[in-house]
Amino acid sequence: MDGPSGTGKSSVSRRLATRLGARYLDTGAMYRVATLRVLRAGTDLTDPEAIADTVAALGLSIGTDPTREVIELDGEDVSTEIRGNEVTKAVSAVSAVPRVREQLVSLQREIAGVAGRIVVEGRDIGTTVLPGADAKIYLTASAEARAQRRNQQNIREGRGDDYAAVLADVQRRDTLDSTRKVSPLRAADDAIEVDTSELTMEQTIDELYRVVAAALTATTGGAR
Ligand code: C5P
Repeated sequence: MDGPSGTGKSSVSRRLATRLGARYLDTGAMYRVATLRVLRAGTDLTDPEAIADTVAALGLSIGTDPTREVIELDGEDVSTEIRGNEVTKAVSAVSAVPRVREQLVSLQREIAGVAGRIVVEGRDIGTTVLPGADAKIYLTASAEARAQRRNQQNIREGRGDDYAAVLADVQRRDTLDSTRKVSPLRAADDAIEVDTSELTMEQTIDELYRVVAAALTATTGGAR
């Protein structure tokens, strides 16, 4: 499951995984943990080598149960802190570093390799991490719809109400993520694109379930 931020990708992927009886991996959370490590170490965000060195020994622990989020850095629960503004602002710089990507992509493949059926969510899953995935979905929505949702989420979670700033951040991250040299954000050629701008969460999940069930039938002769 790939796509830009704010499409509802995380909630949708988690619930789709639950419905499919599958595991779930949030790869964005992994880049966020790496970013938190970099921020805590005071590493210069303009120095890719220093960033890669800081992230090289990352005490990251991430769960794959879609009903229970476990994200730890050196044994500390950081699931809330990694969603904060500081990490969100810095994550594109960290995720653009090739050595960081190599390290996390290999960990993602390892986790997916032992998980059995799994919904893996990110930016480059269909293109780079798991090009042989049975079903590839590229979730999109207009920048405005995505900013609206993220802003609502910020309000709900006590992070304030600033639509204009959120929209600017969504657009900034889209540009950074889609123009970076390593693994830019783009749909895999064989991904099915689903636009969620006009869909509720329930409608999105129903649509994705249909798409995945059809893809599994086509590639494996049926949903196991
Ligand atoms: O999905 P989420 O917004 O948590 O992702 C945070 C950031 O991590 C993205 O903006 C992107 O820079 C990076 N990312 C990535 N590749 C992935 C997942 C996330 O580069 N597979």
